[in-house]
Amino acid sequence: MKFFVTALVLMALFGCYVYFAGIGRPISIEEETAHYEVDALKYTEMLNQIKTRGPKGHAAVTEWNVSWDWKCRVSLDVKTTYPQHVNLEGLSTSQKVSWHEFLSKLRLHENFHKFDGIQAARDVSDNWCLGARFIVKYWVAQSEILDLRTDHGRTDGVVLKL
Ligand SMILES: [Zn+2]
Repeated sequence: MKFFVTALVLMALFGCYVYFAGIGRPISIEEETAHYEVDALKYTEMLNQIKTRGPKGHAAVTEWNVSWDWKCRVSLDVKTTYPQHVNLEGLSTSQKVSWHEFLSKLRLHENFHKFDGIQAARDVSDNWCLGARFIVKYWVAQSEILDLRTDHGRTDGVVLKL
């Protein structure tokens, strides 16, 4: 019996720890990755294609939305849109390397935006949905600050070279 009580206390402590560590309450995450096609073989042509075909004129965009119900079951929807080169064989070897490097830096940058969405959902859930709208606004602002600070990832290496 004594062991049982000790075990319960330990479990309660562990529960608290988990709660403060921010992995206490479950959140459900729905992820979607979309693509738009590009086929340019030259820098200016590619820049034009990204501006006209890319989401909101950007090379990539991550959109996230946090929602919750009356029981404070929190859901996160994340959609990321990337360019997809459909004429890779038309690129020279060094152009291919540049393109893949651009894509990998782009993915890294978009992951930072996704992380803001995950943090927003996690914080809303851990606060039992109290002040949820303010929490979401805070993380939306963090994503905007990221783009201001890095010039949409450029200072982190998201630079197109073809
Ligand atoms: Zn960005």
